Amino acid sequence: MQRAPYAASPASSRGRIHPEAESDYRSPYQRDRDRIVHSAAFRRLEYKTQVFVNHEGDMFRTRLTHSLEVAQISRTIARALGLDEDLTEAISLAHDLGHTPFGHAGQDALNTCMQDFGGFEHNLQSLRVVDELEAKYAEFSGLNLTFETREGILKHCDRDKALELGEVGRRFIDGTYPGLEAQLANIADEIAYNNHDVDDGLRAEMLQIEDLARLDLFAEAYDEVHSRWPELDYRRLVHEVIRRMINSLVSNLIETSTARIAESQPADIEDVRQAGRPLLALGETMRSRNLELKRFLREHLYHDYRVQRMSHKAQRIVTTLFETYIGKPGLLPPALQAEIRHCEASDGEVGRARAVADYIAGMTDRFAIAEYQRLVDPVQPIR
Ligand code: MG
Repeated sequence: MQRAPYAASPASSRGRIHPEAESDYRSPYQRDRDRIVHSAAFRRLEYKTQVFVNHEGDMFRTRLTHSLEVAQISRTIARALGLDEDLTEAISLAHDLGHTPFGHAGQDALNTCMQDFGGFEHNLQSLRVVDELEAKYAEFSGLNLTFETREGILKHCDRDKALELGEVGRRFIDGTYPGLEAQLANIADEIAYNNHDVDDGLRAEMLQIEDLARLDLFAEAYDEVHSRWPELDYRRLVHEVIRRMINSLVSNLIETSTARIAESQPADIEDVRQAGRPLLALGETMRSRNLELKRFLREHLYHDYRVQRMSHKAQRIVTTLFETYIGKPGLLPPALQAEIRHCEASDGEVGRARAVADYIAGMTDRFAIAEYQRLVDPVQPIR
């Protein structure tokens, strides 16, 4: 499909904060994607928790494979709707760059530690990684991405923070929407994690097929597979069911969004932003089926006592690291001490806390665990 008029386009891009000459061979959004793939934060996603901590098994999703699945789902839908595939891929690959080690348990612990210093939120941190923290380019900090990629990375934001963020935060004040590529990456994230968490939960034996079969979305796919292949072995069965669930969500999203776009007739991306409602959406029935699955996963997987035990340990690790570094920055390597002094000089204790939070948020699970052991266990080697 050709690029639709309502798609983001390099020609109407709001551009980069630091102006740069265009590439001879790549569109601005391709370059954004490439910068994200080459970033240090992207590589670290390989060893960051999605639901299961990395050392629990090699077959579970990590933040990296999750991000790849989001990008793949986004690209299929983008192509079907005539959106900019490179842009939605860039947003999908970058959306979790700000995640702490140990998934949501790590982010909640860091947020508690940062309570007096402006808090910590992984989505804001993803924007901070691409805007400020990646230190690779001679002429600017961050990756100097286009406005549209940054707009897509910032999924939610409270009013105070939005005011601080300037142009990229404005839609949270005036109630407008981001471009369709951003709306898409957001929904593709949810489609990806709901489905791969079912797969991982079954693999970990924390979820059971009999329980999942009470959910409409799962049951419909399961009945189809089971009646066609009653003797199918377990792994093939699970995969056949999950691919059907993803397919029905993706198809529904394409059909519903096509109808909504046809109703609103946006002439360009600005019309999409001003449409008064998201133009990318699941239909009513599919939305409630998806919600039912999400609630089920919360209750049966994320609240499973074994997942909770790891969350409990994660909290202790993150909190101990934070309190130790804040109390005794002298325990950190000299380059980090210098960074903390630099942030302290401009922003006082808030700057100091933010520098420590940035350092911890950037850690992989296994680095955070090793660092915790180095700090608390007297017989651990010092490096
Ligand atoms: Mg995600």
